[in-house]
Amino acid sequence: MEESLIFKGLRATLVERLKEKGIRDINVLNVIARVPRHLFLPTGFEKQAYEDKPFSIACGQTISQPYTVAIQTELLQVQRFDKILEIGTGSGYQAVILAEMGAIVYTVERLRELYLGARRTFRQLGYSIDSSWSDGYEGKENNAPFKGILITAAIPQIPQKLLDQLATGGRLVAPVGKEDMQTMTVVEKISDNEFNTFHHHSPFKFVPMLKGTDSNIHHPAFLNKQ
Ligand code: SAH
Repeated sequence: MEESLIFKGLRATLVERLKEKGIRDINVLNVIARVPRHLFLPTGFEKQAYEDKPFSIACGQTISQPYTVAIQTELLQVQRFDKILEIGTGSGYQAVILAEMGAIVYTVERLRELYLGARRTFRQLGYSIDSSWSDGYEGKENNAPFKGILITAAIPQIPQKLLDQLATGGRLVAPVGKEDMQTMTVVEKISDNEFNTFHHHSPFKFVPMLKGTDSNIHHPAFLNKQ
């Protein structure tokens, strides 16, 4: 069988699993059925790409489990042409899922190697995703406000700066909690200073959201603060 057909079959099976696990948004399921997740994993691990598991990528980071990508995307309630900021580009898979949902996507990554890798992937696959090498704690002031902000790394609490960059009527989705376990948290911005917060039931484990980019490591001012 042609290789692309094998991957298509594996994706269809994955989508069935995601439905069993409670993913309902048909647009999210359709997008997962279409995007070749194997292109976001290191070469040689193509078959693992369609198991519902996280996977190690470069720099000790991970591409989230498909279920996690699906639930985060579903909770974000993405509409066509929504301006979305993703924090933690990693492999670039989640950003492409958002682009396929019809969003205008901005994504930021603190590690240069991952930023460069994802940028190459976006180009190769033909996506115009705005990606930058910067600290997600700063958000992306110049492009704010965002209809949605998706944080894909664990944070102890949601930074005020990111809530400020959220549009009224917008949503922020983030895994909030300690290093070993987080709760998926959704914050709706009702007005400039009114927020509605709720949680998704199951626990998650993300890599931590760290301050600064890896350029700071070589910066004397940063070293002094350590
Ligand atoms: N969304 C990714 C997976 C994210 S893993 C994917 O689809 O593959 C979390 C990512 O967040 C890691 O790549 C990590 O380097 C990045 N990260 C952690 N802290 C950050 C910060 N302050 N700003 C930007 N990226 C950050």
